[in-house]
Order: sequence, then structure tokens, then C-alpha cells
Amino acid sequence: MSVHDKNRKKAVVLVSGGLDSATTLAIAREQGFACYCLSFDYGQRHRIELESAQLVAESLGAVQHETVALDIGWMGGSALTDSSIAMPEVEEPGIPITYVPARNTIFLSVALGWAEVLTARDIFIGANAVDYSGYPDCRPAFIEAFQQLANLATKAGVEGDRFTVHAPLIDLTKAEIIRRGEALGINYGLTVSCYNPGPRGEACGRCDSCRLRAQGFRDAGVADPTKYREKPPEFD
Ligand code: ZN
Repeated sequence: MSVHDKNRKKAVVLVSGGLDSATTLAIAREQGFACYCLSFDYGQRHRIELESAQLVAESLGAVQHETVALDIGWMGGSALTDSSIAMPEVEEPGIPITYVPARNTIFLSVALGWAEVLTARDIFIGANAVDYSGYPDCRPAFIEAFQQLANLATKAGVEGDRFTVHAPLIDLTKAEIIRRGEALGINYGLTVSCYNPGPRGEACGRCDSCRLRAQGFRDAGVADPTKYREKPPEFD
């Protein structure tokens, strides 16, 4: 840790290896935080995400990056953790099957514990309510409720040293997120968004997440650095 790092406020930043959390990390750094990044080996079917998370954290100047083994895949219930559930290729009405039960609550809880130990009072999460309106734990009301819980549930909070949970992407479209990240110099080629990537992170070009991401680059007018297994998604 450099002298410069010691003078900065600390933040814990959840980093998944995807585009949104990379942008969130870049925003936290731009705001002057010394960033302590946290990733979870939670039983996701696609381990390449964890390698991406490491590369993203390094490339965006994380002070420390921890990958925590916390298996929530054993409970099933999501196409992201249970290989017996087919990955959807068409959008279904309601909350998508890619929803992972209580994932953001679980991840933020671990982030909160680490933040308290680090004396970091800021936690960043790349939740976004615009493109993922189906996920209950990506809504502003959830973020506000978790912040309230953080201040009730911790020694620091009770003693008046309050936590802030930041979700800087919450109201942005995918294109706005990409423009923001582009301006902050992110190499999105390091990130993996696909729900069904190849062994080196090649995107399928067909899943919901691939389509949202490709549409975002298109709408943002930014060249898409994604490596596709066959071809990029096609648009009408
Ligand atoms: Zn995909």
C-alpha cells in the first residue's frame, strides 16, 4: 500500500467480472476511494468470471482483491448456479430464472462485515434497476433498506459511524453505463457478461445478458470489444 492509499477513504467494492461492476469500481476510484474489491466463488457455472474479476480489479487499481469461497449453488434455484436448469434464450415474463436467490443480500452482508473490519464506511455495488427490473435485489428500495440494516446491524453503525451503500448505476441504461466507463478508460474487453460463456470467456451472443450488452455498445456508439464464440447478437 502506498502513502497515497493511506490518505484515501476506503471502500469495499463488489466485483463480479462483468461490465457493470467494472464500471462501478472505476466510479469509486474516480471519487477518490481506495478500493478493496470482493468477488465470490459462489458456485456459479462460469468460473471465467472470477478470472475476469481479478483482471478488472488489477487494471482499475484495487488496493486489495479477495475472492471468497461461499457456495450458494448447492441450493439450486437459478440457471446461473444449477446446470439442470436450462439457460433461457428468450425473455420470459416475470422474474427471470437467472435470478440467484437472495444473492445481493448475501454478498452485501459479507461486504459489510469486511468493511467494518477495514474501517471502510462505503460499499459499492453495480446493481442496476433499468435493464434488470426483474431482480428484486437490484431496486433502489432494496439498496436503501440494506443501508438501513447496515447501520442497525453493526457496532460501527450503532456507534454513529454510519455506512453508505452506493449503487451508482442504479438509474442508468446499459448505454449510459458503457459511455461512463469508456470515459473512465475501462477496458471492457476484460469483462465477461455472458450467462453461457466458452472456456476463455467467449460470449454466446444469444443469452439475455449478451443481447443487453451488445445493444448497450450499439446504443452508446462504442465499439464492442466482446469476443464472441460465433457471432454477435443480431438486431432487428
Ligand atoms: Zn451469452
